[in-house]
Amino acid sequence: MASARAPVRYSNVTRRYGSVHALADFSLELAAGEFVTLLGPSGSGKTTALNILAGFDQADEGHVFIGDRSVGSLPPEKRNVGMVFQNFALFPHMSVFDNIAFPLRMRGVNRAEAAPRVERALEMVKLKGYQDRRPNALSGGQRQRVALARAVVSEPPVLLMDECLSALDLKLREELQQEIMRIHRELGTTVLFVTHDQSEALALS
Ligand code: ADP
Ligand code: MG
Repeated sequence: MASARAPVRYSNVTRRYGSVHALADFSLELAAGEFVTLLGPSGSGKTTALNILAGFDQADEGHVFIGDRSVGSLPPEKRNVGMVFQNFALFPHMSVFDNIAFPLRMRGVNRAEAAPRVERALEMVKLKGYQDRRPNALSGGQRQRVALARAVVSEPPVLLMDECLSALDLKLREELQQEIMRIHRELGTTVLFVTHDQSEALALS
């Protein structure tokens, strides 16, 4: 499994919610294949920045680029950005297989074509054999591995991680930090990881 990789650029992005400036003139560049960690306290606009790149939110001013394309007006499914959310955000009524296949199904890939790709994603996060389980039959760490598999299954050139280890206990967090670094090496994807945890930022970047 190898992804295309793409440079990412935020250019003078501003986002206001009423009187709150969630982002004010925010600029950041990531080279293709680079792993960048953004460290900031709660409320500093980290989630807003990721949502604007993924297409779940819109900038009031400024532009976001993936490759050399300004993507601000594209819907999320046309951006091919993988995202791992702060909460686990799995579909509770779907099996592990269907959760991981979801981004492929959204793009019109049928079940038979999706199967080997889901299998590879499961291998990558070391959950081979778990495809028929429901999320409620998994531990927190396993659920976050499923979320990671779902984020990489479409081999996105850009992967966004929103404090995705914060809900896990220390030992599991450290283990998954290693896994994320390994997956980054294997896929070569451009990764933007945000956290409020200084030791996590130092461990990753
Ligand atoms: P972080 O992820 O760094 O904790 P956020 O991007 O979630 O920060 O939030 C940045 C600021 O914007 C906070 O003050 C937050 O309350 C505010 N904010 C975020 N989303 C919304 C929203 N949908 N409506 C109103 N205010 C919001
Ligand atoms: Mg946040």
